[in-house]
Amino acid sequence: MKKIVLLGPPGCGKGTQSKILIDKFGFFQLSTGDLLREQTMNKNSPYGQEISEIMKRGDLVTDEIVINLIIDKVSDLKDKNIIFDGFPRNLNQAEVLDKSLKEISIELDYAILFEVDFKILEKRIQNRIAESVNEKRSDDNLETLLKRIEVYKNNTLSIVDFYKKKKFLEQLMVWNQ
Ligand code: ADP
Repeated sequence: MKKIVLLGPPGCGKGTQSKILIDKFGFFQLSTGDLLREQTMNKNSPYGQEISEIMKRGDLVTDEIVINLIIDKVSDLKDKNIIFDGFPRNLNQAEVLDKSLKEISIELDYAILFEVDFKILEKRIQNRIAESVNEKRSDDNLETLLKRIEVYKNNTLSIVDFYKKKKFLEQLMVWNQ
């Protein structure tokens, strides 16, 4: 059973690739974005309001909240193929994931990095916003998405070296899309 991390900035096409892994290969997706959005809609969640404000700004939700949400799910899905989508997003989360998996005797098999030229990414995001007139997510606006790219550069990219050292990084270059 495979455990795969998908790494990449917003708009890189991770969602499209996850869908293929789910539909064709029976992977289960653990998306911290989805788990957090569930919390914002749950009126009994003590963190709902806080999470919603952070997501609207495009910042990272605190590690404690995110880690607690995801770790439970991992042990439930231990014997399944899992894609981690949107997690880890900083070095601490990557280290905690590694440690938590070891505790239940599993290891990541691959981390796949989606690399997209940041200029192309900004253009793609602008097009996506222009096209999505309906059903806009509250964080689907230019300001927040640009912020999320900054957060990616400042926090998430450091995971790449961590995974390179562990030798399970598969690089995926995406040009010009
Ligand atoms: P997308 O799939 O569009 O790239 P996500 O749904 O993964 O975006 O994330 C949306 C927002 O949820 C992020 O901007 C961030 O505020 C929050 N978030 C998601 N995953 C994490 C995480 N692992 N750590 C901290 N915040 C997160």
